[in-house]
Amino acid sequence: MRDVTNTTRIGIIGMGRVGASAAISVLHSGIAEELLVHDLRLETAEGEAMDLMHGGSFLPPATVRVAALDEMLDTRAIVIAAGKSGTATQSRLDLARENAAIVRSIAETLRGYTGLVVMVTNPVDVLTFAFTKASGLPPARVLGTGTMLDTARLRHVVGRTLHVDAHSVHAQVVGEHGDSEVALWSSAQAAGLPLRQWPAWQPEFEQTLGDEVRRAAYEIIKRKGATNHAIGTVTAALLRTYLRGENRVLTVSRVQEGAFGLTDVALSLPSIVGNAGAHTVILPKMNDDERSHLGHSADVLKQAIAAINA
Ligand code: NAD
Repeated sequence: MRDVTNTTRIGIIGMGRVGASAAISVLHSGIAEELLVHDLRLETAEGEAMDLMHGGSFLPPATVRVAALDEMLDTRAIVIAAGKSGTATQSRLDLARENAAIVRSIAETLRGYTGLVVMVTNPVDVLTFAFTKASGLPPARVLGTGTMLDTARLRHVVGRTLHVDAHSVHAQVVGEHGDSEVALWSSAQAAGLPLRQWPAWQPEFEQTLGDEVRRAAYEIIKRKGATNHAIGTVTAALLRTYLRGENRVLTVSRVQEGAFGLTDVALSLPSIVGNAGAHTVILPKMNDDERSHLGHSADVLKQAIAAINA
């Protein structure tokens, strides 16, 4: 029976390292009254629910419980973090086929869902596309975390370099969450000043810092086997933006419907996220080089989408 109360309920499907980190970030942020967790491995979901609940006296009030997949239909938002993760040497696109089968089967169960779906499983852009098509949900309500994480990493490394807090850095990564991603250096600013006008800025930083951001996941996985905390924070921030209707601009991935002439692909562009999801895609200022790299990134993703459909 469908639940008709107004409880703000969030679901997480896949309670591995990423799902667990997303869960604790959601609980800290106080945006959920009830968190439903689900995993193919029932005991993993049960153990995480118990562990999360035990911190309850130090967190905003919320309950956590294990749920079946179809109970997720009664939530305001669902995070999908189910599936295999990459290894230090494996590209995100290598994961595509296996994880596409998982998210398509979840999409079948969630047809007619009225909330927001946040795709985290990699390759996130390819799976955002596959889920949107398999579920029939509108593109504005199926969002990949996309380059939100890369954008956060970029703001961190630029801030570190200039000794400025990351909050005061305005710089974005667009395109694929992966090797073909595009850092928009030409429009990047810190404290309102274009980066290229900062006395401490050197042209070679763009290559080295861009590589650091692009390789960040590989470097972390090489050391600890997974990345989870930053993506958990990113996921909770995206959920909060949606649930509170903040209309914050985030570089989320979604199926594009004509921005820069892009169709039949999901990738990240800055988008206004509010109660209706990523309802408006912004066309950022780009130079010719960045525009051509974005086109290349779209081509890479289209090939990956074709590969999972082959
Ligand atoms: P993990 O192996 O720790 O956890 C994955 C979980 O998914 C496991 O608990 C597994 O039992 C569960 N699962 C598998 N199939 C399932 C199904 N059909 N239904 C329900 N649960 C299922 O992996 P992780 O480190 O948590 O990573 C999860 C995913 O997140 C990976 O694809 C990883 O690449 C991705 N990731 C994405 C980003 C990003 O920026 N988008 C960042 C980090 C990780």
